[in-house]
Amino acid sequence: MITAVLPTYNRAPMAFVKGEGSWLTAEDGSRYLDLGAGIAVNALGHANPALVAALTEQAGQLWHVSNLYRIPQQEKLAQMLVDKTFADTVFFTNSGTEACELAIKMARKYHYDNDMADRVEIIAFEGAFHGRSTGAIAAAGSEKMVKGFGPLMPGFKQLKWGDHDAIRAAISTRTCAVIIEPVQGEGGIRVVPDQCLKGLRDLCDETGTLLIFDEVQCGVGRTGKLFAHEWAGVYPDIMMVAKGIGGGFPLGAVLATENAASGMVAGTHGSTYGGNPLGCAVGAKVMEIVADDAFLDAVSRKAAQFRQGLEGLVASHPTVFEAVRGQGLILGLKCKAATTDVVKAAYAEHLLTVPAADNVLRLLPALNIPDADITEALARLDRTALRIEAA
Ligand SMILES: *Cc1c(COP(=O)(O)O)cnc(C)c1O
Repeated sequence: MITAVLPTYNRAPMAFVKGEGSWLTAEDGSRYLDLGAGIAVNALGHANPALVAALTEQAGQLWHVSNLYRIPQQEKLAQMLVDKTFADTVFFTNSGTEACELAIKMARKYHYDNDMADRVEIIAFEGAFHGRSTGAIAAAGSEKMVKGFGPLMPGFKQLKWGDHDAIRAAISTRTCAVIIEPVQGEGGIRVVPDQCLKGLRDLCDETGTLLIFDEVQCGVGRTGKLFAHEWAGVYPDIMMVAKGIGGGFPLGAVLATENAASGMVAGTHGSTYGGNPLGCAVGAKVMEIVADDAFLDAVSRKAAQFRQGLEGLVASHPTVFEAVRGQGLILGLKCKAATTDVVKAAYAEHLLTVPAADNVLRLLPALNIPDADITEALARLDRTALRIEAA
């Protein structure tokens, strides 16, 4: 018999009742060290007091008004994002998937309005993840996500990750945009080299193609810059943001240049909940904390400490771990053992990690994880590896 909750997830049996910082308490009272952070969502840890205050203060004032009216909390957060990024304008969504939908629409509308209505094709990359809507699965195109859900939205093409020649060959007079994660998350924590992002930007400029960055997972301070692309000094025309920006409240955004967004006039797009006062009040507090040089420097310092420890684990457990990947606190341990076994063994050590493709164990701790919790996480990963070795 089907469960009351649609069984689309392979769930672990634990249920959590309370969170504090990098720790979660299960129903049985036992505590787990959380290196998943709700898949890069709880960027400032669980029950962060500043976010709880921002949310409860707003909750006592006003939960929701429609986008028929001005929403000052939305204007404030948009201005913060515009001040700190390449973008001139922001649209708020409830999720990364919805951000993907708008990114696609915006890119196509741009060419349509510039009398190039046949420029509809969007180039994406193998291993990408952009969400689960019909548009987002058509963009990423993996067999696992699209099988049985056709006909797919036409106009997408996937290229091999990291093949610059293939991109040059694929861009034609029908190309609308290229969409890429500067650090691929679900695909196995694959960092696009700075040179490749630069080459891609140049190619897009030469051909009038829009460049869309999906920073839903790698953005909002995760790499030690506010957004990952800042490391390469390469800027997109359109960017998708979600996950960390809400710190746990469902919030996403599309950021764009004035030029790329020029087609999105009144009536062309909308959302009932997108940019509501609750989400934006929390988002503004997240930005206030994260978009700060001292905070971002601390992320890089913690990341270096964590990474050094992980390299040590690879050296001491060569039959379990193979290599460390990633940038900042979006880290991956490429495993020799099956990742699913490693995740399970980590549960036994009361440590939460997230599997990714390419047999990679994803480590996405809260950006403000205390140094002592990093040390504790490394000890638990060490014991996890010992469990695998003993099995
Ligand atoms: C999670 C994710 C999405 C989808 O976001 P949802 O909020 O789950 O809709 C899109 N792109 C990337 C890179 C992601 O990691």
